[in-house]
Order: sequence, then structure tokens, then C-alpha cells
Amino acid sequence: MPSVCYVTLGCAKNEVDTDRMRALLRNSGYCDAAMAEDADVVLVNTCSFLASATTESIETTLELAEETASGVRQKPIIMCGCVPSRYGDALPNELPEVAAFVRTDEEDGIVDVVSSVLGIEKRSSVTDFSELTLRTIDGASAFVKISDGCDRFCAFCAIPYIRGRYASRAAEEILDEVHALMGGGVREVILIGQDTGVWGSDMKDSYNLAWLLRQVGKVVRPYQGWVRVLYLQPEGMTDDLIAAIRDTPEVLPYIDIPIQHCSGSVLKAMNRTGNADEFRNVFNRLRNEIPGMVLRTTALTGFPGETEDDFDELMDFLVEQEFDYTSVFSYSPEEGTRGAKMSNQIDESVKLERTQALIDVTEQLGFAATAKHVGERVQVIIDGIEEGDNGPELIGHTWFQAPDCDGAVHIAYGEAAVGEVVTCDLVDSFCYELIGELVDTADGKA
Ligand code: SF4
Repeated sequence: MPSVCYVTLGCAKNEVDTDRMRALLRNSGYCDAAMAEDADVVLVNTCSFLASATTESIETTLELAEETASGVRQKPIIMCGCVPSRYGDALPNELPEVAAFVRTDEEDGIVDVVSSVLGIEKRSSVTDFSELTLRTIDGASAFVKISDGCDRFCAFCAIPYIRGRYASRAAEEILDEVHALMGGGVREVILIGQDTGVWGSDMKDSYNLAWLLRQVGKVVRPYQGWVRVLYLQPEGMTDDLIAAIRDTPEVLPYIDIPIQHCSGSVLKAMNRTGNADEFRNVFNRLRNEIPGMVLRTTALTGFPGETEDDFDELMDFLVEQEFDYTSVFSYSPEEGTRGAKMSNQIDESVKLERTQALIDVTEQLGFAATAKHVGERVQVIIDGIEEGDNGPELIGHTWFQAPDCDGAVHIAYGEAAVGEVVTCDLVDSFCYELIGELVDTADGKA
């Protein structure tokens, strides 16, 4: 049976795409190889969100090419995802080490590409994708894509050029996938997309994200599952959406709204909307109307034309809002975007200084927000077992921690299987991490 080694770079959306390709290949008789040296072919799913991500994707591919070329026999490498989507035509000349390039919108044809690269007669037997469960998840949390592409064209972002125009995924497909995932042992679904808040806006029916959350809530209810939604936009927080999050018990009171900035003039230059007052109203409403609200955001500093006053406004806003989690990025001019053509670029050293200042402050705020949970009793999904200072410890996450992006709960003593949901007392914290102790529950399970 020919085998494929998968290497995924970038965000959770890429993880979902790799998972879909893996499912298609498994359905067509390919098996997985954990290491490149054990595989017949290596599939690298790349990221090109920032110039640094593109560089990492290309370097990883070249390192793999070098490793496999020095092995017993050469392994073909297939490059998929955002780098081929962004630089398609130039790549075959630039990267002769790569056997084939697959753009994001060509990934459903991966079986034919792999078969042709290997020179074997193994064509895709899949014609009706709706009949397949196109997931291979074995953990307790699963990312579910509800849309792809983006129509916003923020001046710093290359995603709309890479992923194309916004396209909502059909509700039936999403609900079927959530159903299958929950039936297969998943306990938390995390809805993702480049712009989740406008889900349904490109459909004929008057569906919206609020409706979808209520439907997904119904599907996960019999399993006592959790629903989390990431990547909302401030202006998308409608009354209906806030009510759906508040009144659907399965939907976690955890919201990720990347504001990027709060100065009206910087946001306008970024081709985004809003200002500090509007954002303040949104976050105040969320905190007032949804008990226990936990908020994550993203800030981008150093965009062309950002003055000291703009930066100070952003800093003051982040300090005032005390977000639970903040990711801070330094602006980089991405080829093909409007921002890259602006003449008022900020000096690199100023950008780095501003970025570091924001990281220093938001980290302290985030650590303090994490520490506030000490003393709570929570449900924890066990994600893995790692070697800690005192031997093996259970690593999990609770409702206010999105997997792969926030901190974790560390449980030094006790036994539980990966994927199990346990009850824990949170007894201490360090940075974004929490120390938990298992609690004996009424049914005798830890
Ligand atoms: S909303 Fe803006 S930052 Fe997000 S993917 Fe779309 S264009 Fe990029």
C-alpha cells in the first residue's frame, strides 16, 4: 500500500485541509507514514499568510527535499495550499525539487496528483463527496471549516488573493460533519473560516451565523459537546448573534474578535471599519450580556502611516479592555497588497519596538486574566500526556482555552485517557498555563 507523509504549516484552516486530503487518499487506498523516510511521497501543506510564513514553507520543503534525496531512494514532494495558490506559475522554475504543485482550490483532486507523481494506476474512486466523512480526527477537539475565502480585502492581507472570494459552506454539509465527528468521539467543535461572522451572506436562504450556531448546538447537545467559534469581526456582532451565543448552552462564552487596531484613521487606511468607541461598545455589550465572557483579539502595529498617537491609542485601548488573550503582529508589506504599495512605511526598528511594547503589556494582562480562574472547578478535555518535572502529566484544555492557541491545563497526578472529559479544580497558574487537580465525581470517575 503506498504511503503518504503529511507536513502541515500555518493555521487551523490548513490542518482541516490536510485532514480532508488525508481522508481522500485513505479512501483511495493510501496509508499514512509518520516520517518522511518511511513514506512513498511527502505532502507539504503550506502557509503564505505573511512573508515569514512563505519563507518557512519554502525552507521546510527544501529541507525535506534534501533529506529525502540523501536517503536510500528519492521521495517525491508535493507542495499544496497557500504558496502554490499565491505564486503558482513561478514555482515550477523556482523549485525544481518539487514534483507537483496543488493550489487550495485543486485539493479535492489530490488522489489523481499523488497517483500520477508515483506513476501508479490508482485514480480517485470518490465522485460523491457528500457520501464520505472527510475527516480523520482522532482527538477530542475538531476544527470545522464553515467558509473559505474573504471579501474584505484588508490592505495588509494577501488572503483574498490566495483563497479567493468568500464562499460559505452549505449548512447541511457542516451539520453532517459535526454529527459524524461527535458520533466518532469528538467533544468540541471549533468553527473556523477567514471571516466566520458573515457566514450565510452569500446564500439565497436567509441563513446567518446565529442560526448556524443554534443548529450546531442542537447536534452536539446529546453528546454534551462544546461549540466554539473563532475569527469574528467587531461589526458582525449583531443582537441575534449575541443572543445565539448567550442562549445556546453548548456555545462557549469565548469569542475571538481580531480588531487589528482601534485608531479610526489607521483602520480606514487598512480598509477596515470602526474606531475605539465602536469597539468599546461591542466589548462592553458582550461582557454585560454574556456571563463569564472570555475575549481574544489580535493587534497589528506598524501599518503604514501609524503615528505615535495612533500607537498610544492602541496601547491604551488594550490596557483598558484587559483582553484574556491578545496576539500581536508587526506589520509586514505583503506582495500584491495595497499596504505594500503605500509610501509611508514605518521604519523596521520602530515597528519592532512598538510590537514588543504591546507584547509586554498584553502578556501581563493575559497572565493576570488566567490567574483569575484559579479556584474554579471546570471540565477539562484531555489532549495528551507529556513528560513534566515530576513525571508524566495530563495536558488538557478547558472552555476558556482554544486548543493550539491559548494556554493549557496541566494535571500532574491521576489517570485519564486522551479525549476524556474530566473534572478539575484549578489550583495554580503560570503565564497562560493552569495547574489542575482531578476531582472525584459522583459517578466514581475522576
Ligand atoms: S478579514 Fe481582512 S485580515 Fe481577515 S482574511 Fe479577510 S482580508 Fe485578511
